[in-house]
Amino acid sequence: MSDVQTSNDARGNPGRGASAAPAAARILVVEDEAALSLLLSYNLEAEGFIVDRVERGDEAEVRLSETIPDLVILDWMLPGVSGLEICRRLRARETTRSLPVIMLTARGEESERVRGLSIGADDYVVKPFSVPELMARVRALLRRARPDRVTGVLSAGDLELDRQNWRVHRAGRDVHLGPTEFRLLEHLMEKPGRVFSRAQLLDSVWGLSAEIDERTVDVHVGRLRKALSKTDEKDPIRTVRGAGYSFDETFGKPC
Ligand code: CA
Repeated sequence: MSDVQTSNDARGNPGRGASAAPAAARILVVEDEAALSLLLSYNLEAEGFIVDRVERGDEAEVRLSETIPDLVILDWMLPGVSGLEICRRLRARETTRSLPVIMLTARGEESERVRGLSIGADDYVVKPFSVPELMARVRALLRRARPDRVTGVLSAGDLELDRQNWRVHRAGRDVHLGPTEFRLLEHLMEKPGRVFSRAQLLDSVWGLSAEIDERTVDVHVGRLRKALSKTDEKDPIRTVRGAGYSFDETFGKPC
């Protein structure tokens, strides 16, 4: 395992995206449950999105008349104007007709979902939902609507990760990874140079609050390294002693 000797700053190399990053997508979260709204924005920001939050339906209307985001996460039941009504109005307006909308509905409102979809929501998620699941839907929807705003391929040096096709190549050869190793690499490559603790990786890659031994992360990082690098190749993953792991932001760049 390689330990880190240098920090980003020591090399004067500011943390950069693994590839030329497109402008980050803007997401408006319309949700009156403060804790949920905060949780969503925290997770969306961690994925690199720019998040704007409002709690009331009428506030959302005002916000949407000022700026059009790339995607809206819209709660069904809102004070002011309902999510359903907002969605209907968005669809009626030329400028927002194809704006991606994910509706959040509470359990028991399922029959209403059909109405939500018929009124033009692109997707819906029933509460309580898993955050990784919602994030996946956000990415999928943005990929369809704004492919320029979600990088399909992450690349660094001779390494390429294709999110759509779930493939990884290094120096032109196929790298075969299990699903966990793939997500682990994707997660690390999204934020080159950023150090993730084992607990953070368990949370975002495994997506579970289940009790999993943190050493599980080491096992999968070990497998990932073995699959990625031949003996003479540089290891793109850094072990940061006492902290966790990161994707080496200097990987593939001239020293
Ligand atoms: Ca609500």
